[in-house]
Amino acid sequence: MSWSLLGAERVKYILGGMLRRERLPHAILLTGPLGSGKLTMALDLGKAVNCLAPGQDGSPCGSCDSCVRVNSRVHPDLFLLEPQGRSLVHPIADIRRYMREMLVYKPYGYKTKVAIIRCAERLKEENGGALLKTLEEPTDNTLIILTAPDQSSVMGTLVSRCVTLRIPPLSPETARAELLARQGLSGPQAELTLALAGGALGQALSLNSARAFALWEKIGAIFGSPKGAARLEAASAFTGEIVAEMERLKKADRESDKASSKRAGEEAGGESEAVGDGAEGGDFEFLNLLYRLLRLFFRDAAALGATGSDRFLAGPAPSADLWRFAKNFPPRAYSFYEAKVSLLADSIARYFRPEFAWENFWVSLLI
Ligand SMILES: [Zn+2]
Repeated sequence: MSWSLLGAERVKYILGGMLRRERLPHAILLTGPLGSGKLTMALDLGKAVNCLAPGQDGSPCGSCDSCVRVNSRVHPDLFLLEPQGRSLVHPIADIRRYMREMLVYKPYGYKTKVAIIRCAERLKEENGGALLKTLEEPTDNTLIILTAPDQSSVMGTLVSRCVTLRIPPLSPETARAELLARQGLSGPQAELTLALAGGALGQALSLNSARAFALWEKIGAIFGSPKGAARLEAASAFTGEIVAEMERLKKADRESDKASSKRAGEEAGGESEAVGDGAEGGDFEFLNLLYRLLRLFFRDAAALGATGSDRFLAGPAPSADLWRFAKNFPPRAYSFYEAKVSLLADSIARYFRPEFAWENFWVSLLI
């Protein structure tokens, strides 16, 4: 019997107090960076309002009939709406349907009807407007929870009708300990993952840490080896692996697209669980990961080269490769290397064959 989210003690304290006194507002906006736990908190709150045996601190029990239904996302009085499709918008028909349900119908056997609307920053005029009426004339026993990265990104007319609570990021020590405990990563793997996730645990948990770390080591081995043909050979082999992996990911996406459109055909009119399906392919994500790793590597090389100390690193403790590369890395070269990564990303977006862009990138930095 406790809140699922780690940290955010102040938010839990405020919500717990409101729940115990039954003074919860009709609409709450939860803000915080990507992966800070907004959805976890929203679902916890969704559980807490209908929990049959809540804790002293207002937290949900997690095991009563109502909590179990929220956990398995089959609660009749809890709606979860996320932006969908390539353009990432909230389907207006769903918003209208939810809001009508909230206004017209009583909860199905539980105390409160809850609507969780993620990515509220994507609600613009028409979609946001469809919510306004419910927010302006709230009925009893309804709770709307919006989530967004920050308050300023959400339509002012929505914000003004919500109580905003900000979920702060976890301390780096807590996030690291949690990552080690939950995913059995090594220390350096956890540090790299957290650096890539900007310290947000939720985002860190969704990253493929082992893959990221293997790529990180490969980048280190290429830049850390002595100048010469062998280093270009290694880079060229790496290009081959990257291109093959991109092809594999594209193929997997095509297959899952096919499967999901087949499923959608079979369940025409049924509710879709897919979130932002097809918004960005796996190959795009993979490339983005590579760019982030390269940028982090050069950043840490600059910090290490300039100070001779590992105190200023963003990534994991430096490998022998990173030390070697950093020793000859003039700090001012950082912007040059950074620009090369941008050029690489730009070229890959334009070139028909990504291997050409990669070859140019390696040659420009390794000879
Ligand atoms: Zn419960």
